[in-house]
Amino acid sequence: MTTIAERFAAVTAELRAAEIAVGRATGCVRLLAVSKTKPAADVAAAYRWGQRHFGENYLQEALIKQQALSAFAISWHFIGPIQSNKTKPIAQHFAWVHSVDRLKIAERLSEQRPDYLPPLNVCLQVNISGEASKSGVALAELPALVEQVAKLPRLRLRGVMAIPEPQSDYAAQCQPYRSLCSAVQALNLPGLDTLSYGMSGDLRAAVAEGSTLVRIGTALFGERSSLR
Ligand SMILES: *Cc1c(COP(=O)(O)O)cnc(C)c1O
Repeated sequence: MTTIAERFAAVTAELRAAEIAVGRATGCVRLLAVSKTKPAADVAAAYRWGQRHFGENYLQEALIKQQALSAFAISWHFIGPIQSNKTKPIAQHFAWVHSVDRLKIAERLSEQRPDYLPPLNVCLQVNISGEASKSGVALAELPALVEQVAKLPRLRLRGVMAIPEPQSDYAAQCQPYRSLCSAVQALNLPGLDTLSYGMSGDLRAAVAEGSTLVRIGTALFGERSSLR
């Protein structure tokens, strides 16, 4: 049986190899461990291995895990869809939110971010595959949303996040990330230092196309049950 520590070591080696393969600096891409549906014990095992950044999609599940792991110095990232009536606990209990895709949600998160915490790090989720069903702001509307969100006092706008339509072909995996990366570069805002893209199935393509943070679940924790 493969242990969590072995999987983390293997994925980290793959990430470092992907950086080297395209001439990027070693360690420039952060690994976010996506622990949704996995028990607190798995997060604890990853933490003992050395992992500090964890991503969760479902608020209630995340709050229970955070409670169980309150003694650990974990940086929690919210990466799931956000309902406007759930912004307060998200603003209170996370260091990062990757899935902001409209102004109303950003305004609520800014208003509800407690004074005793540093500004909430946020990424704007961009819909780069143009699928009607997926959340995310359209690429054409990104500059306007960036301008508005950048003004909110209790948020620190860090960059963008994307979940493209799954593709098995490497070139097809690269293409949407390339468009997004150049759109962000064109904004020319030095504070935008985060390109949150790449998952278990397309890590290499994401790193080749400028990702600074890959969100990996399955390759680290194993398959999720399909109960959700
Ligand atoms: C589940 C999920 C991931 C991780 O996906 P894997 O294919 O298991 O690596 C990354 N990002 C988001 C937003 C997710 O919901």
